[in-house]
Amino acid sequence: MAKDTSPACKQCRREGLKLYLKGERCLTDRCAIDRRSYAPGEHGRRRTKQTEYLTQLREKQKARRYYGLLEKQFRNYYERANRQTGITGENLLRLLEIRLDNVVYRLGFAVSRRQSRQLVMHGHFMVNGRRVDIPSYRVKPDDIVAVMASSSARDLIKEATDLTASVSPWLQADHDNLSGKILKYPEREEIDVPVQEQLIVELYSK
Ligand code: SF4
Repeated sequence: MAKDTSPACKQCRREGLKLYLKGERCLTDRCAIDRRSYAPGEHGRRRTKQTEYLTQLREKQKARRYYGLLEKQFRNYYERANRQTGITGENLLRLLEIRLDNVVYRLGFAVSRRQSRQLVMHGHFMVNGRRVDIPSYRVKPDDIVAVMASSSARDLIKEATDLTASVSPWLQADHDNLSGKILKYPEREEIDVPVQEQLIVELYSK
């Protein structure tokens, strides 16, 4: 499966905020954005003239990197969101949130989305009792996500739950039994991402 392999910390520095792509390290003083809060590259410290297009582009890049997707994958999510009824920007964020790799991360079973994607791809999780190794798998209300009983990553996943400060309100986590339930689809105010989704919609609608 294609994935974004560009250095995580450079992505944060480019967007000018913490995207929390490296798990525990992001919470320490080794975080690159705390040390060098300017964009990477030769011209990183130069002031860039802000245009409407650039603002929209950065917002889209921020969201895409937050969820660790390639441009084509992200665009496909937008197209799907646009076909749904309701507000396109909110539809887009909801579709991104209900990806299995994001849900595993939100439940606290991984320290970053990168780690959760790897754990899912390596078959450590099941949905409703059946192994699912597709990170983009879309969960739905009442689904039960659980760590496989035979998983060799149970200790790693347990450690991740110890670092979990909170679980999204549309999810219910049982860290003792390493399982979680999807209570409902998330509302916009329950999706904790620093993104102005309307700017993304404006960019793609041009
Ligand atoms: Fe981003 Fe984490 Fe790197 Fe900090 S340590 S720059 S939050 S990926």
